[in-house]
Amino acid sequence: MNKYVFLFVITLTAFLLVSCGEKKASTSLNAMDTFMTIQVYGKKPEIALEKTKKLIYQIEQNISTTNKNSDVYRLNHGESISVSGDTLTLTKYGLDFAKQTDGVFNPALYPITSAWGFTTGDYKVPSQNQIDELLPLTDYSKIQINGGFINLEHGMALDFGAIGKGYTGDEVIKLLKDNGIRSALLDLGGNIQALGKKPDGTEWIIGIKSPWTGKAAASIKIADKAVITSGGYERFFTADDGHNYIHIFDGKTGRPVDNGIAGVTIITESGLYADALSTTMFVMGLQDTASYWKRHSDFEMIIFTENQNLYFTEGLEGKLQLLADFASVNIIRK
Ligand code: ADP
Ligand code: MG
Repeated sequence: MNKYVFLFVITLTAFLLVSCGEKKASTSLNAMDTFMTIQVYGKKPEIALEKTKKLIYQIEQNISTTNKNSDVYRLNHGESISVSGDTLTLTKYGLDFAKQTDGVFNPALYPITSAWGFTTGDYKVPSQNQIDELLPLTDYSKIQINGGFINLEHGMALDFGAIGKGYTGDEVIKLLKDNGIRSALLDLGGNIQALGKKPDGTEWIIGIKSPWTGKAAASIKIADKAVITSGGYERFFTADDGHNYIHIFDGKTGRPVDNGIAGVTIITESGLYADALSTTMFVMGLQDTASYWKRHSDFEMIIFTENQNLYFTEGLEGKLQLLADFASVNIIRK
């Protein structure tokens, strides 16, 4: 595009926005242990953004594992309580997903992730004895829901670290729509969710981070979709033995996943589903992940392996632009 065409496009976009009475507004906030930015386009974007911030803080207040007044904290400390809609939805969804994946996804791994120090940052490698003692406390089938009441057995604990941000993204998008916003882009700590297209009618271009360089390794165009990544490189610690232990766990062994996967990105409409899948597909490993996708096929997926191979599902063919060199590029087909 030459510079005059470029200027013309900018002017036209500004003109279209102003002529529809639409404005852009954006905000950033720290919530849910991460940095979030939200940009919206609409008639009263500032009001929508204020409501959005309140909503995010309110969901955080309900599901935080560390805030002493949250539902999750109280449940995890032995209270049997009537919980908020957010907590109830996430518990039901988490338990359903656990059943569907035979426990590969498990919202009750907190006793294990705590023992490794991921909840406090005080990292350590627990003994096998300690892991063996804690594993029975992660049996999600024992969690009882009666109406709005949830009850956990002594020592059990919930953690929505794997799905909370995806759920929040969906709730924010509902709120924005209710407030007349037709175009928005959320970045909830690397969880990207788009409402509609860009105001100029083109799709949003989303970069997908390289696990190795931190720069974009690929990009994809989307509208009305979530692009959600689980990366082993996002949170890990290096133990005295030199081994890196990541924050995504295999609930069968009680140990961090170590299966050669470096990152999994899921693309689908629902943020909650994408977030649950990103963690689950990471734990499953390459083979099982491909067969799970073939059975469900209501999402697209990109996998980076530690030895720099790239895999992606066939629906992304022609849509994914590669911006880095890979040892191999492979398409997962039905
Ligand atoms: P991020 O939080 O970096 O966006 P994820 O969505 O993959 O990445 O969530 C990772 C978090 O999920 C962990 O920090 C932990 O709280 C939780 N978790 C780890 N392993 C599992 C698992 N097998 N099933 C459900 N939740 C998990
Ligand atoms: Mg997730």
